[in-house]
Amino acid sequence: MARLVMKFGGTSVGSVERIKNVAQRVKKEVEAGHEVAVVVSAMSGETNRLVQLTSEVASLHDAREYDVVVSSGEQVTVGLLSMALQDLGINARSWLGWQVPIKTSAVHGSARIEEIDCSEIVKRFADGQVAVCAGFQGIGSDARITTLGRGGSDTSAVALAAALEADRCDIYTDVDGIYTADPRIATKASKLDRITYEEMLELASLGAKVLQTRSVEMAMKHRVKLQVLSSFEELPGTLVVDEEDIVEQHVVSGVTYTRDEAKVTLQQVSDTPGIAATVFGALADAHVNVDMIVQNVSENGKATDLTFTVGKNDLQPALKVLEGLKDKVNCKALVPDPNVVKVSIVGMGMRSHAGVAQTMFAALAEKGINIQVISTSEIKVSVLLAEEYTELAVRTLHSAFNLDAA
Ligand code: ASP
Ligand code: MG
Repeated sequence: MARLVMKFGGTSVGSVERIKNVAQRVKKEVEAGHEVAVVVSAMSGETNRLVQLTSEVASLHDAREYDVVVSSGEQVTVGLLSMALQDLGINARSWLGWQVPIKTSAVHGSARIEEIDCSEIVKRFADGQVAVCAGFQGIGSDARITTLGRGGSDTSAVALAAALEADRCDIYTDVDGIYTADPRIATKASKLDRITYEEMLELASLGAKVLQTRSVEMAMKHRVKLQVLSSFEELPGTLVVDEEDIVEQHVVSGVTYTRDEAKVTLQQVSDTPGIAATVFGALADAHVNVDMIVQNVSENGKATDLTFTVGKNDLQPALKVLEGLKDKVNCKALVPDPNVVKVSIVGMGMRSHAGVAQTMFAALAEKGINIQVISTSEIKVSVLLAEEYTELAVRTLHSAFNLDAA
């Protein structure tokens, strides 16, 4: 007997028929003798619809009321799934965040889970009851309903698995696992049997949309065994595990990309101490996150270009801040470019292999792709390219690192 958390995303519960299908998957695990807690998202498209309503009523609104509205999609799915399970003869009940309770900070719209008391759920496991828990929501330290940020039900599931000391947290979704690259672009991409937490964390934060980044962080911290698998097909998925549990480690495990960033160049700013601190300090004060940064060596010792990336959604606020700073840093021109893509390679093997970045740059050069900005960490290399090269770059790197399936 094992204790399992099964999480189903929006597409997996997107219709009555699909909710009934989920109930069948849950029933199978219950009949195998497992203790099961289920975490569900809202039906696909529902949270977007609710968010849209809030902004139609008032573009600047009370974040506490926003949470009351957008958390409601999950209330519907926990109720419906519990009914579907009961209809199959399974003992099940729904749990809203506050009922468990899943206690969070009071940062409405992006609250953090602080504590989960699952003693009542565990007590009911003994009677064979399935807990059907609403993802994405909790109760804040201000005693009001909170939400965890978009895609947050992955984090709800992992947090619940950690609190329950579950044997595994299965994330059922519309893809059947983690691939070496987006299969819609790299047709030779293949599914990974296993991937390390560290790699998954990089992939999630560099553009792979399968898991919310914070959920991977939490799984890594609490060593929750995660599996990503399809809710439509009965196939093994991808296990996210410790490095020791990987038998054959590739140098590069995956190639990913994101079009969510925009590039900004400050041309010919003064090359004097304090300029970077002024620019990035002002952006930080405006809550604009900066990702990649390059500053060239100045030719004459007086002025240089400063280039960096920000989230596309932050481009306008960033430009507003920078316009106000232009004179202070002697900037000749402010040049925004939203037509960029960040392409990254990720792999634990990079730590022990020389020449990985070189292979990447050479492969891109051979296709005539110009690299605009580079950033690296221990297990990843990212390059910023013109957006039109997205597909070509992903395919080229996928082949260059021998990831193409035979
Ligand atoms: N329903 C929420 C959203 O769409 C949470 C989730 O799906 O993970 O963001
Ligand atoms: Mg999701």
